[in-house]
Amino acid sequence: MEDPTQPRRNSETCAWVNVIYGCNERCTFCVVPTTRGSEQSRPIAAIQAEISELVAEGYKEVTLLGQNIDSYGRDLKGAGQTFPDLLRAVGSTPGLARMRFVTSHPRCAAQPQPTATTAPTTTTTTPPPSASPGSEPTANPPPYPCARYMSMRVIDAVAETPAVCEMFHIPVQSGDDEVLREMGRGYTVKRFKQIVANIRERCAAPRPAPEPSPEPSPSALTLALALARTLTSPSPSP
Ligand code: SF4
Repeated sequence: MEDPTQPRRNSETCAWVNVIYGCNERCTFCVVPTTRGSEQSRPIAAIQAEISELVAEGYKEVTLLGQNIDSYGRDLKGAGQTFPDLLRAVGSTPGLARMRFVTSHPRCAAQPQPTATTAPTTTTTTPPPSASPGSEPTANPPPYPCARYMSMRVIDAVAETPAVCEMFHIPVQSGDDEVLREMGRGYTVKRFKQIVANIRERCAAPRPAPEPSPEPSPSALTLALALARTLTSPSPSP
């Protein structure tokens, strides 16, 4: 019988490595927090050991996995265990040619986060402050207010760690602020554009991956497509 706790490897070159399980967000359309529980990060040492073993077996590329990977380490004690720290640490593994990561969350961390109330698994996570799904983002949040979520520190770590590919997977979900608010995503189109602008400034030009809401209205879909076109333009509008 297959052991579901063990990763399944279908390639001899690329491997997926889980670094954080669960999610503390409460997007109104998503069942993941209910089915997978609160965030639980693996220790950096355990991740380093797994990647070193993979390199010794001949793997050249690893992709770090997390439902909301930028919040890696929020549940760990002690300094030096944020996601940028993890990128720099495991991205320096001798013999590792390439490293990628998915998925980032564009939430503005200045705003209160939903409380993780349903967790089928035990965890040491300290739930973030309470807020209702769909609550308004802070009026004028700074572009990167803290070390969690898609921060400038993550972008810097990507730019400065040779093995880490300049690839960002940041679902925009909608080009309509009202739809984003209803989804409880916690950011605006303006905030998303700011992230892309910072990545463009620091790294190679990104390719956005818009993911519209499950049943977008024609106008919301039009806004999503317009945003995608704007972001893929060589000179995106502010
Ligand atoms: S951040 Fe992703 S996994 Fe978490 S609730 Fe939202 S859509 Fe679901």
